[in-house]
Amino acid sequence: MNFLEEKIITDGKIFNENILKVDGFLNHQIDMDIMRQIACEIKRRFKGVHVDKILTIEASGIAIAVTLANMYDVPVVFAKKSATVNSTDDKYVSEAYSFTRKTMNKVFVSKPYLHEGEDILIVDDFIADGQAANSLVEIVKQAGANIVGIGVAIEKGQQNGGKMLREKGFHVESIAIIDTMNVETQTVFFRRQ
Ligand code: 5GP
Repeated sequence: MNFLEEKIITDGKIFNENILKVDGFLNHQIDMDIMRQIACEIKRRFKGVHVDKILTIEASGIAIAVTLANMYDVPVVFAKKSATVNSTDDKYVSEAYSFTRKTMNKVFVSKPYLHEGEDILIVDDFIADGQAANSLVEIVKQAGANIVGIGVAIEKGQQNGGKMLREKGFHVESIAIIDTMNVETQTVFFRRQ
């Protein structure tokens, strides 16, 4: 079992069959030791890959993205969420259904922060159905930049986001992949990688 799987077992709470709460170290309080280990492991898995910028989505991807960007010494761009985006003139805009909030959000990045030809590593805390990551993929494509990979802390393998993104040809790395979780027994089973 790796460090993140162990942390999920000790500090994670299975809220229901679909939601794992990790507020104690990732989504509310941030454990910087775990954050550094997640960032180190993502960097190790993308060894040899050139990265110009890290792209994430507000809010919970930012902590991982900043820790990782500090190691690469590159900027972080975070896509902003908004129910409406009035003008699309100076923005790349896409849409994502929020798995946790059950709402459709417009997601945008202002044009000066992503450029054609840049090598972009997409980062987030979770992949569930892949909507958030997919909205970032669309934004990078609009900018004419290259997606060099997608790195996440926790993939919920019982949902199809990771599978869908890999089938599209993206290099996806998830530090912990959950196979199943049981709310009654509060047990989590991980996929061996
Ligand atoms: P997706 O767009 O892949 O369906 O969902 C990914 C987003 O939803 C992540 O950015 C994350 O914030 C949130 N999310 C999805 N599943 C979970 C979960 O089980 N626990 C928590 N804390 N967040 C989740």
